[in-house]
Amino acid sequence: MGFVQGMRCRECGAEYEKQPTHVCELCFGPLEVAYDWDAIKRRVTRESIARGPFSMWRYADLLPLDGDPTVGRQVGFTPLIKAERLGARLGLRNLYIKNDAVNHPTLSFKDRVVAVALSKAREFGYTTVACASTGNLANSVAAHAAEGGLECYVFIPSDLEQNKVLGNLVYGANVIKIDGTYDEVNRLCAEVGDKYGWAFANINLRPFYGDGSKSYGYEIAEQLGWKTPDHLIVPCAGGSLITKIPKAWYELEKLGLLDAPVTTKVYAAQASGCNPITTMIKTGAEVLRPQRPNTIAKSIAIGNPADGYYAADICRKTGGGAEDVCDDDVIAGIRLLAETEGIWTETAGGVTVSVAQRLAAQGRFERDEVVVIAITGNGLKTPEAIRDQLIANVGIAPSLSAFDTVFDEKYRLPQATLQAARLAEKERELAAA
Ligand SMILES: *Cc1c(COP(=O)(O)O)cnc(C)c1O
Ligand SMILES: [Zn+2]
Repeated sequence: MGFVQGMRCRECGAEYEKQPTHVCELCFGPLEVAYDWDAIKRRVTRESIARGPFSMWRYADLLPLDGDPTVGRQVGFTPLIKAERLGARLGLRNLYIKNDAVNHPTLSFKDRVVAVALSKAREFGYTTVACASTGNLANSVAAHAAEGGLECYVFIPSDLEQNKVLGNLVYGANVIKIDGTYDEVNRLCAEVGDKYGWAFANINLRPFYGDGSKSYGYEIAEQLGWKTPDHLIVPCAGGSLITKIPKAWYELEKLGLLDAPVTTKVYAAQASGCNPITTMIKTGAEVLRPQRPNTIAKSIAIGNPADGYYAADICRKTGGGAEDVCDDDVIAGIRLLAETEGIWTETAGGVTVSVAQRLAAQGRFERDEVVVIAITGNGLKTPEAIRDQLIANVGIAPSLSAFDTVFDEKYRLPQATLQAARLAEKERELAAA
């Protein structure tokens, strides 16, 4: 650990000391962490990684801390699941789910970026941390601040889901609800950061925060046996994660750790009610046009995404693409994943599954190709999305006859009707073939 050389502007290449800033003074481009790749190459092998802990920190040499992490030591190394039943529905034989719905401790991929950002904040000597958030980031900053004994302020739009608000308060965070969109929250936070000198995970610490996402990519490659998939579908909010997964793979390639060059096609997924990135990709536009979000997929509702340009760029460069889906399809996506794989994801995951289904229907994937869907958050945090859709529980008296009655009426008869309909459909298909 400790291979950070400094910072470098992504646009003009200007170099800076390691510091909590994110914008180039010369050209206003975003700063990135610069690593000593020669030293890393001498040290990191597949075996050295395999000897590491079962967490994101097995890739610590590729992450931007100078010492050991001081918060979030258990984050990451989530399951990569072969999704046979969902695959069958999409006509795919090698479909995988990278499941950060079960990322520790706050059940979203944001624990990866926050474990890095807040450990880094402590290295820089901060005692107060903060963030502008669409929900999951706030939850993760709140939890890791508690773990590290840091003072914490989270700024969120006032219309977030109830469990995402509770998921800050329970950790003792100071929660500031803003009557406005995420983009307005973010603008305010930039001013607060300047005035109060706090560590904002996704603003002044953004270069470090962003590199936390690389761990999601390293894990996919290792879990596929040191290969990358043919296709990758990622939900986009600020557009950071979608750029960091391929970045991680290109790094592994450069280190000689992959069996084959990276040829993965990358696809952006958004909700139609907030689709600045997918619109840019689908229309071939050169500039991103900001929007005012209106969707139930609140965790990815960013109308003016900080990394939107780079997100579009990676989809184009890799030969991938983009799709967006309406809110009804978001709900359908949540239910499809739950009913086929037993994984309850939040609205962002509903977006991703539904977009994957649409891309599959468009014939973008060959049946045997390896496709990875990025599931980034947990459905327990957004029950509002599906509550009204699902039939209420059946309540009966504690007697067998009561059960017999309800079984016939509510289950056996509808089930029989359904089966008859399916049979008829099969017969029609056979007749047509
Ligand atoms: C934040 C978030 C994303 C997208 O993150 P970006 O890196 O900002 O694009 C995706 N899914 C969920 C559940 C999130 O909370
Ligand atoms: Zn610059």
